[in-house]
Amino acid sequence: MSARVVVPKRLVPHVLAGHPWLYGDGLSLPAGLASGELVALVDRDGRKLGHALHDARSPIALRVLTTRAGERPGPALWLSRIRDALTLRRETLDLRDTDAFRLLHGEGDRLPGVCVDHYAGHLVLKLDTEAWLPHLEDLADALLEVTGRRDLYYKGVTGRRGESREPGPLRGAAPPDPLLVREYGVTLPVSIQRGQKTGTFLDQRESRARVGALARDREVLNLFSYTGGFSIAAALGGARRVTSVDVAAPAIELARAAFVANDVDPQAHAFLVADAFDHLEVAAAERRLHDLVICDPPSFAHRADAVPKAISAYTRLHAAALKVTRPGGLLVACSCSSHVGEAALLDTLREAARKLRRGLRVLELRGQPVDHPWSLAFPEGRYLQFILCVVD
Ligand code: SAH
Repeated sequence: MSARVVVPKRLVPHVLAGHPWLYGDGLSLPAGLASGELVALVDRDGRKLGHALHDARSPIALRVLTTRAGERPGPALWLSRIRDALTLRRETLDLRDTDAFRLLHGEGDRLPGVCVDHYAGHLVLKLDTEAWLPHLEDLADALLEVTGRRDLYYKGVTGRRGESREPGPLRGAAPPDPLLVREYGVTLPVSIQRGQKTGTFLDQRESRARVGALARDREVLNLFSYTGGFSIAAALGGARRVTSVDVAAPAIELARAAFVANDVDPQAHAFLVADAFDHLEVAAAERRLHDLVICDPPSFAHRADAVPKAISAYTRLHAAALKVTRPGGLLVACSCSSHVGEAALLDTLREAARKLRRGLRVLELRGQPVDHPWSLAFPEGRYLQFILCVVD
C-alpha cells in the first residue's frame, strides 16, 4: 500500500486538469516519506485523484504520474508512456535524414522528470529529479524493450552533479566521443559524455534547418554557438563566412569538427572562444557588419525572480547585436527560459530597436519542435522561443 497524500481543495482542479507538479509548501506529507516513493493522491473526502512520485529534496515535492482511474504507476505504466512517445515521434518526425530526436520529454510525455534523447542508436537518459533513481532499472528495461536498442547512457540528475549516482552506461556500451549524428542530412559531432544536457540541443533542429535555408551568400555571426549547429547549417546553406562565438573552448572545438565532418573547410570561417558581449563590442568598434546574426544564449532566467535582470540582459544583447547587423540583414533572437515568453522577448527586441532607432520587422516566430511537446495544463513546459526579424 502506498502512502496517501491529501491534496488541498484549491489544488484539486489543478491536479485534475493535468498539471504535473505539487509544491511541498502547500502540502502536508507523511513523516519519513523517502525520495522515489509512490503516493496515492486523494481529496479531503478521501476520493482518489491519482498517483505521484515523491522528491524529498526538491521544492516540487510531488510529480503527478497519472490521474486516470485504474491506472497505476509502475513498470507497465513506464512501458506504455514510452511506447506512446515513440509512436508519436514516428508519426510526426521526418526521420529519413535525421537520427537524433527527443524520445521522452518529461512532463510533455506524461513521465515528469524523465528526459531521453536518441542519438544514432544510442539512448541518453537525464533526470530532473532524483526521485526516479529507485526506478532507474525499470525505466532502463522499458526503454530497451520499446526501442529495441542496446545502449543506454545515464547522464545524471540536473543540478545534482557529484551528489547522486555517477553518469555512465546503464545498459550496453558507452557511445563514442564524439558520436556523429545526422540532422536533416547535416552531420553533427555530439559529445554525450562531456556535452551540455544530454549532449546537444535537439530542440533547435528545425530552426537550424531554417537558418540553413536563409544563409546563402550571407556574412553570418552565430553567438553562443555551442558546438556550431547553427553555424554548420549556415555554412552548408551557402553562407559566405560564418563566425562562431562561444566561451567554452571544447564547444568551439566540436564546432570546428562539425565543419570538417561535413567537408567544409574550417579555415574559410572563424571560430572564437570569447564572451559574446565582449565580441559584440569589438565588432561594433571595428564596424564589422553581418547579414545574419543569431543569438541563442543560455537561459538568463532560471527562476521567476530573475526575470527583470534577464530582460535587461536580453535587451542589451539584442541592442549590441543590432549594432553589427547590416540594414536589410536578419536577426534571430532566442530564449530557452519558460519565464521569458514570446511577448517578453519581443519587448526586448522592441526596446533594443527603439534605443538604436532601427526598425525591426518580424518574419517568423517559432517554438519547440514536435518531439518537445508541452501540455496546455502546464504552460511552464513552453520554454523555447525563436524570433526571426529583418533589420531596417
Ligand atoms: N545554439 C546552440 C545552443 C546554445 S547553448 C545550438 O544550437 O546547439 C548556449 C551556449 O552559450 C553554451 O555553449 C555556453 O557555453 C555559451 N555561453 C554562455 N555564456 C556565454 C557568453 N557570455 N558568451 C559566449 N558564450 C556563452
